[in-house]
Amino acid sequence: MALFIGKTDVRQLPSYVAQNYALIEEKITRLIFAPHCVMCNTHTDHSIALCNQCWGKLDFEIPLYLCKQCGFPMNDNDEHADWDSLCLSCLQKPSLLDGTAATLAYDGVSRDLILKFKQNDALYLRKLLTYLLTLAVHRLPEADMIIPVPLHRWRLWGRRYNQSALLAFALAKLLHSDNVQTGILQRIRYTKKQKGNPSQRATNLRNAFAVSAQKKHLLKGKKILLIDDVLTTSATLENCAKTLKKAGADKVYGLTVARVVAPRPIFAR
Ligand SMILES: [Zn+2]
Ligand SMILES: [Zn+2]
Repeated sequence: MALFIGKTDVRQLPSYVAQNYALIEEKITRLIFAPHCVMCNTHTDHSIALCNQCWGKLDFEIPLYLCKQCGFPMNDNDEHADWDSLCLSCLQKPSLLDGTAATLAYDGVSRDLILKFKQNDALYLRKLLTYLLTLAVHRLPEADMIIPVPLHRWRLWGRRYNQSALLAFALAKLLHSDNVQTGILQRIRYTKKQKGNPSQRATNLRNAFAVSAQKKHLLKGKKILLIDDVLTTSATLENCAKTLKKAGADKVYGLTVARVVAPRPIFAR
């Protein structure tokens, strides 16, 4: 299927632009309007577009000890919990992720920010959300390649940008990395918006991802950093990791701006 802006097939553009072609109009808008806080709309000089008061409402309360594979918070009362612990789900069924990290608990304010960014064309939020990613990236080992969680081309067509790709490119710039790959991992099955319990989500995503046959060789023995906006049940990242490892990747880490921090059924993955 061809994707056109005017007479230009966006697939022929550099991947950064092709993944995020709504970015061009957003840049023009930002040139015209002065920065305002994205939450309360008061004027702010902060380039990350959140005033001090609203910044204070962000919930950084992710528990100290997280499962080293899936990042799920360990029970604070568990005397065995430490930096090297695995949660019960990962003990029962090892995760294909080699580590995950997130900056915020996914709640009121972070949820508003991420949904605005993802669904309402609020691309000016990418600076703030990328900054938030940098606060957690150091918790993961260094990777060779950054891959954003891909959108199916129908969804990309509707939304005009891949929010995870925007974050991946902006993060790479801050990390002085130029190895963001958007063509290797592809979403080949159009899935409905993720709903339901963890096992329904996992079933919904089965065989949803594939690796490009032409670019598969680039993954061999590589450490991959997957980028997404939010981790809900880790079903998306797990399925990406499974696909990448099957294609030869050595390690796969997941980095998200926020993650759901809530009890989940044991052994649910
Ligand atoms: Zn504000
Ligand atoms: Zn775990």
